[in-house]
Amino acid sequence: MANIINVKWNDEEKKYIRTEMDIYSKALVVNDDFLIISEKMASLANITAFEIKANLVGSMKKDGLFTFKAIKTALDWIFVNHDYSKAFSINGDERIIFEMLFKNAKAYQKKVSRRLTEKEVKKLYGFHICMNHGGKMKGIHSISTNSMLNPFCIAHRKIADCVCCHCYAVNLIKTRPSMFIPLTINQLLFSNFIIPVELIPEIKSRKIRFEAFGDLGTILQVVNYFNISKVNGAKKCALWTKNPVIIKRALDKGLTQKPKNIQIIFSGFRLNQPVSLETLQKVFPFIDRVFVVWEKEENNPFINCGKRDCDSCGTCYDENGAKVVNEALKMAKRTPADR
Ligand code: SF4
Repeated sequence: MANIINVKWNDEEKKYIRTEMDIYSKALVVNDDFLIISEKMASLANITAFEIKANLVGSMKKDGLFTFKAIKTALDWIFVNHDYSKAFSINGDERIIFEMLFKNAKAYQKKVSRRLTEKEVKKLYGFHICMNHGGKMKGIHSISTNSMLNPFCIAHRKIADCVCCHCYAVNLIKTRPSMFIPLTINQLLFSNFIIPVELIPEIKSRKIRFEAFGDLGTILQVVNYFNISKVNGAKKCALWTKNPVIIKRALDKGLTQKPKNIQIIFSGFRLNQPVSLETLQKVFPFIDRVFVVWEKEENNPFINCGKRDCDSCGTCYDENGAKVVNEALKMAKRTPADR
């Protein structure tokens, strides 16, 4: 979706764009940033949910399955029409459309009679897996939500000495806005449904990372990530979070159990501040290790991350790996006002 451009506007421009947006529906406002969308995407704003449902049904091929084009239109429609004041919840129409897509995906899975691929789940119901990471994450597939829409992330980016001020995910989404749609659809999917087990794909990489670009916001995310780990039981999985309360709630409610092949990593809030794993584990016994970012490498002689690629290093994915991982900050120091 290369035709979406994310721009920071000044107040005068915002006033103008807001007016223009009302007339032409060419922009979405998200957290006071504007996503300028293509004419084609904007035209979806004028289509009713009823028409989208009818378009899906009308697109049926001889085998009774929706066309991928109609599915994509339905997912784009959800993206364009979603109420962005509600970060995690969906309305009734969005729920019905997702349920139609699940039903269709189940019929497709029955027809092919094997576990779905990563590309198929994207086409069938919008489940996005990032398979082309570069740098440190090269070779690892990740499943994430959108940190630009997560109130927990937004709040922490406003705290001056919080590591979230340097959020690489937000910077990446802003420079590659095409990521915004799939991460948003993931957020809505994982927060509102337990993905049917037969629709969970086989993930091809040796290691799977959860939340490379966002964080937890609902207990259903935890249930889904744990189910994905269980289905891909031979793979090593890791979930980074600053919000272990959500995992505790999911476990306390008995909604899920932590699989053996996942490592839970508590990502420290403050720069240059050690975190006690022992203290954390008194409340959150499911946490396996802590991850701390240090502003200056020379501040800390124990930096044990950052110079390798995760696939060959594997420390964070291995139950026997170091319990404290210290990383040197890679991005230039920024203040909350820069964001
Ligand atoms: S310690 Fe290894 S696995 Fe963990 S983040 Fe650093 S390079 Fe990746």
